[in-house]
Amino acid sequence: MDQVKIGKFISQMRKEKGLTQKQLGEELLISDKTVSKWETGKGMPEVSLMLPLCEKLGINVNELLTGERIPEEDYKKKAEENIMDIMREKEESIKKVIIEAVAFVITLAGMSLIMVAGLAELGIWQRGLLIAIAVIVMAGGIAVGAMADMSIGTFECKHCGTRFVPSATSYIFGAHTITRRRLTCPKCGKRSYCKHRLTH
Ligand SMILES: [Zn+2]
Repeated sequence: MDQVKIGKFISQMRKEKGLTQKQLGEELLISDKTVSKWETGKGMPEVSLMLPLCEKLGINVNELLTGERIPEEDYKKKAEENIMDIMREKEESIKKVIIEAVAFVITLAGMSLIMVAGLAELGIWQRGLLIAIAVIVMAGGIAVGAMADMSIGTFECKHCGTRFVPSATSYIFGAHTITRRRLTCPKCGKRSYCKHRLTH
């Protein structure tokens, strides 16, 4: 699902109805900030708000999820695409949670080994060996976490909004925060802190 496209569509339909963000928000009992977040593609309406929103905008849910008016003859096809999209996104987010949990447990195991190495009465080279094993285990945990982060979902260019899967090298060497990573966009060529998204 294309959040930016959906956002633009919501904005366009709202204006056609002659409503401000504040007025639409009031009708749905939410803040104008939330409406603004949708319209700029930074968030999706929660499921419980989708029907009321569509009613206010005079569109249907299928059109909302597609981000455009749908002619009668394409309705069924678009609806099926949207259902598949939603199912795939759900599947990917579950996969991500599981892999991240596995990575966390592996990293934790490595840290425990280091604690043992520090506390137990061991000879110098036994301690050294234990620490070496711990470092390898932790590196494994971090690698699993990074692989999950890289392979699930896409990164979004700040400049042109293109979503892409980065190459392993650019991913590994890119500076990052928790939700963003500095990458070069394959479409516009600009480097920016790209947001990680679960959708394609
Ligand atoms: Zn770009």
